[in-house]
Amino acid sequence: MDLIVGRFEDHRTDDIVMKTIGFIGLGIMGQPMVQNLMNGGFQLIVWNRTASKSEKMAKLGVEIGASPAELARRADVVISCVTDSADVKEVVLGPEGVLSGAYSDLVMIDMSTISPDVTREISAKLGEVGVFMLDAPVSGGQWGAVNGTLSIMVGGPLETFQESEDIFKAMGERIVYCGPAGMGQVTKAVNQIIVAGTMAAVSEGLIFAAKAGADIAAVFEAVSGGAAQSWQLENLGARILKGDFDPGFMVKLQQKDLQIVLDAAQKMQLPLFTTPIINQFYRALELDGGGDSGTQAYIKMLEKMSGVEARIS
Ligand code: NAP
Repeated sequence: MDLIVGRFEDHRTDDIVMKTIGFIGLGIMGQPMVQNLMNGGFQLIVWNRTASKSEKMAKLGVEIGASPAELARRADVVISCVTDSADVKEVVLGPEGVLSGAYSDLVMIDMSTISPDVTREISAKLGEVGVFMLDAPVSGGQWGAVNGTLSIMVGGPLETFQESEDIFKAMGERIVYCGPAGMGQVTKAVNQIIVAGTMAAVSEGLIFAAKAGADIAAVFEAVSGGAAQSWQLENLGARILKGDFDPGFMVKLQQKDLQIVLDAAQKMQLPLFTTPIINQFYRALELDGGGDSGTQAYIKMLEKMSGVEARIS
């Protein structure tokens, strides 16, 4: 993956001692988030499981740590942005994880999208040694991470949130405190239910236009200005019409998120009707080789079944 350069202006001043942040996970989201934290004047020390991604960051002048434990020992705040619940457990609670280098009053912020229950479990384990944890998943995609315009939904101790707002402001625009541990992840699950349903509707709308022989450019322009307007239509609908199915946000990650939603709903005995179908649809797409595509590839299954493509040539 090419390194994505975010809004890199240097606001550092000599007279303010900024926090040192240890950052774990230099994926599509992590790399630009690190760049925006540097831009905000923070000292960074980073770690990534696959060393080649760290080396790219080293070229920007970022210090590379040997393990999550080393980051915990040396930083004021540790941030993780890795894939799933098991991965956060590994980098925090595993051998050479954050916990093994942690000290009392360290702040741990997990910005991955994971299960609210696992978040609470990790938070409780860290709490035993005096570490304060925030769950702070994000929305806004790769573009939001690059531009520093993420929406950040935060759970955990209110005071820790207030002390960490400067960090969140370097990466995001809308920063909302959602309640105690796990509530950031609950909010993100709500976000994903809405995002997935909207993507399904955008895909069905565009395939309908293609099958009806409509002028797709005209349809897109017309509906983008009305009540059907949405981030998904404007950004991902436009990509569909160009035949651009690169991620953004990968199908396999969306499936992971919808599974988090469905597991939580099951636990609450809450019936959901649309989200399980969309999850199955994404599963079929993944089995068809589309797991690494962007979520806009949802329409590809519809295109296969209907024999038309929604493109502007
Ligand atoms: P990504 O590009 O696949 O990066 C995942 C990162 O996690 C990589 O740095 C990977 O390390 C690391 N990782 C995974 N498992 C690990 C483990 N067991 N131990 C150590 N490191 C591990 O994913 P991403 O798009 O940046 O997403 C990161 C998180 O943000 C996910 O929870 C995702 O759901 C969420 N998110 C993503 C988007 C988006 O648009 N992409 C939007 C909102 C939220 P390696 O380099 O070694 O594989």
